[in-house]
Amino acid sequence: MSFSVLTKGHYDYVDVTRKVQDGIKEYGARDGVAVVFVDGSTAAITTMEYEEGVAKDITEVLEHIAPERGEYEHHQKWGDKNGAAHIKAALIGPSVVVPVRAGRLGLGRWQQIVLIDFDEKPREREIHVTLLEAS
Ligand code: ZN
Repeated sequence: MSFSVLTKGHYDYVDVTRKVQDGIKEYGARDGVAVVFVDGSTAAITTMEYEEGVAKDITEVLEHIAPERGEYEHHQKWGDKNGAAHIKAALIGPSVVVPVRAGRLGLGRWQQIVLIDFDEKPREREIHVTLLEAS
């Protein structure tokens, strides 16, 4: 099952938990795991407490590692300006695996599934949810 999300780029944090949960319900899965994956190399999927302060803290830490305004080899290669986005997307990763129990995502109370778009421009992101059911 897949769904798309419109993002603004530049550290856009989008809570996709509800959409993933709705998809699992629709599919009728009971127990197993859900793999949530974003295609594209300038966005990432993680889990976090979806709260403005945490988002700001993550942004600040990642800006130290790969500042948006830095110079990157990638800019020479393709002429685009999203070298920092590629680094951050690679570090965080494109997917998470979440347990599914009795048809519900097995997340902590303060834990959401979050898409982070690091790109330099608005994008439409496709998110794929693959369910592996326990037999
Ligand atoms: Zn690029």
